[in-house]
Amino acid sequence: NRKLVLAERPKGEPTLDTLRLEEEAIPSVGDNQMLLRTEYLSLDPYMRGRMSDAPSYAAPVEVGDVMVGGTVAKVVTSKLDGFAVGDWVLSQNGWQDYALSDGDGVTNLGASPEHPSWALGILGMPGFTAWAGLTQIGEPKPGETIVVAAATGPVGATVGQIGKLLGCRVVGIAGGPEKCAYAVDELGFDACIDHKAEDFADQLTKANPDGIDVYFENVGGKVLDAVIQLLNPHARVPVCGLVSQYNATELPSGPDRMNWLMGQILRNKIKVQGFIIFDSFGHLYPDFAKQMGTWVEGGKIKYREEVIDGLENAPEAFFGLLNGENFGKRVIRVGQN
Ligand code: NDP
Repeated sequence: NRKLVLAERPKGEPTLDTLRLEEEAIPSVGDNQMLLRTEYLSLDPYMRGRMSDAPSYAAPVEVGDVMVGGTVAKVVTSKLDGFAVGDWVLSQNGWQDYALSDGDGVTNLGASPEHPSWALGILGMPGFTAWAGLTQIGEPKPGETIVVAAATGPVGATVGQIGKLLGCRVVGIAGGPEKCAYAVDELGFDACIDHKAEDFADQLTKANPDGIDVYFENVGGKVLDAVIQLLNPHARVPVCGLVSQYNATELPSGPDRMNWLMGQILRNKIKVQGFIIFDSFGHLYPDFAKQMGTWVEGGKIKYREEVIDGLENAPEAFFGLLNGENFGKRVIRVGQN
């Protein structure tokens, strides 16, 4: 069993010293247990937070422990009712080939799901995050303008496409012309602005002539700076993530704009609300699953996935995810399927 353990807590950007590949014997199965073989490992921005022991909503991974992560796996041996050898499951094996499970928190995907890895993306946690954050906090109304960054990633792409289905104008923000073209041409966004462009803030202003009613916050940083001035009275801001800051070691330099920000919120009566998807909205998961299943099956929502082979490639693939090297949902194919 190969496993990637946290070797040391990163300061700033994680490096190849952050994780260490170890090998051990494949564990044997006890009563009321099953052995799972990881087929796909999800890479998600929240994993950077688990590498750190700064206060957070979830406990950090301890140094020496296997990195946590959502996985799609196959049942290899089962002494558990409801799980047969060969079943595909959605589980939390972490960054390793095999894991024992007592079935707790494991979803059986059946013997032959059509797109098993999609349970880590559009049909799972990131899709649910987009749907719940937008509908429950963003509360978009037809004709309103929604802005979302990381627009081609699993959360942002889904936010934008749901926005279009709900009759809104959607402006994406993404890194580079290729991603922006994809957001408009393939995903149906009304516009998409490249945050790497020098005149990014001006372009964003021009793309939002009627201001912004819903800003789905994925990234923070200079995107947030540019957006704040465009928010309309009664705008809603679901605060989902701040990925531009996950490797930061200190607060940004420059004048303190905290009170200016609070003033904007006050004057424009803006609602800003953070959420942690399963904590905040877990009870809505069945509603999401039904709705998203219908949309995806009917071709109303598109999904882009980037599959990288080999558990040993997970660390670099993860570092790249934080810097926007990914184009779509990044998963590692661990097994041979
Ligand atoms: P993505 O696959 O979209 O990956 C992150 C993307 O962020 C990169 O591809 C990059 O896209 C963009 N990015 C990175 N650095 C910057 C920067 N400095 N400025 C602007 N954009 C940047 O991730 P997900 O779709 O999985 O997640 C999106 C967000 O949702 C994250 O913040 C994540 O933490 C959050 N999240 C929150 C949850 C919750 O419960 N609150 C649950 C799940 C996700 P590009 O190249 O286009 O800039």
